[in-house]
Amino acid sequence: MTQERFTGSFTQQEPIPEAGIEAALAVLRHGRLHRYNTAPGEVAETALLEEEFAALTGAKYCLAVASGGYALGCALRAVGVKPSDPVLTNAFTLAPVPGAIASVGAQPIFVDVTEDLVLDFADLAAKAKATGARVLMLSHMRGHLCDMEALVALCDDLGVQIIEDCAHTMGAAWKGVASGRQGVVGCYSMQTYKHVNAGEGGFLISDDAEVMARAVILSGSYMLYGAHRAAPPKEVFERVKFDTPNVSGRMDNLRAAILRPQLALLPERVARWEALYRALEAGLRGIPGLRLVERPEEETFVGSSFQFLLPGWSAARVGAFLSRTLARGVELKWFGADQPVAFTSRYDHWRYAAAQSLPQTDRILAGLVDMRVPLTFSVEDCAQIARIIRAEALAVGQGPEPEAAELPVIQ
Ligand SMILES: *Cc1c(COP(=O)(O)O)cnc(C)c1O
Repeated sequence: MTQERFTGSFTQQEPIPEAGIEAALAVLRHGRLHRYNTAPGEVAETALLEEEFAALTGAKYCLAVASGGYALGCALRAVGVKPSDPVLTNAFTLAPVPGAIASVGAQPIFVDVTEDLVLDFADLAAKAKATGARVLMLSHMRGHLCDMEALVALCDDLGVQIIEDCAHTMGAAWKGVASGRQGVVGCYSMQTYKHVNAGEGGFLISDDAEVMARAVILSGSYMLYGAHRAAPPKEVFERVKFDTPNVSGRMDNLRAAILRPQLALLPERVARWEALYRALEAGLRGIPGLRLVERPEEETFVGSSFQFLLPGWSAARVGAFLSRTLARGVELKWFGADQPVAFTSRYDHWRYAAAQSLPQTDRILAGLVDMRVPLTFSVEDCAQIARIIRAEALAVGQGPEPEAAELPVIQ
């Protein structure tokens, strides 16, 4: 019997909508790409984009910047994190998060992840008390939201401010509140693999006037902040402009033009992602030795990636499973590897941070498998991918212990 093989691409995104292409061409034709380079009476695409994203999330203020990683570093500076300050963050996240903390000379303090792939609140409280940290950089890693109401209450008690890393939660919500709205600042990425695609890009949103005025000046506004629309009033800038450095990382009008029509498509994209996610979930339910991550009812999530756990599987067994699924066209990533591969590095690979031991996180990551779900997949594609994973999880999970297998390398 010939085995079915998946032939789609896990890295192929959808094209830019025609309206975005048209708007980009208009910017290229007039040549005013820099956000502060406007004709008399013209409002820059970047300023309009910020206004539209603020309206979409319900935030008072919004700033567009060069990348998601830049947004995180800018947020840390804007709330006043100083060199050597401890900053709490998830032990399970991607490299730009601890990287942003390191970029301001602060020290990442890693907090355990739970089997639901969210922050462990008991570990958070213990580490906040032990280190005296005043800031949590909360990563909604792979789109899993923790109980945001409980977290906000806990952080209020602890005197900890929250900066949200919403790289995987643009369009998500907890009990109807948009992800990014519970923290002092919410940060997003518009990099190609996220939920809107400008190649590169980032947003900060906030209701805090002084934090946002600092962020605008930090991003490289010189003294042209008056050209912003989703920004605090001038008086607030007057208070902070002499003691806020310029750390350039602006968004430009070309990328803003590409992005504006995509914001309107976000709700429809979230709905399509949910259908793909649910098809994978249905196809993977009830496999012995494979644990799904159940999504809480309070959460509106964006299914742009899918995770499952293989609790207690040996590295050799996981390696054999990954090789066999890859041979059938299904690209899975593993967070348990000794060496960082492509996007999957782990807290103990970030050696610029002080060495920390998190046995609970180690145990969970040792069985954590991750998959990208681009919108170019159909529901049928997801059903087929699930059938292949099911067949190989059964074959490898229930077979004899394999010889140590070389891990496949997927970029
Ligand atoms: C992509 C990403 C970022 C940063 O985004 P860039 O735009 O690539 O700098 C931050 N956090 C997480 C979890 C990400 O996946």
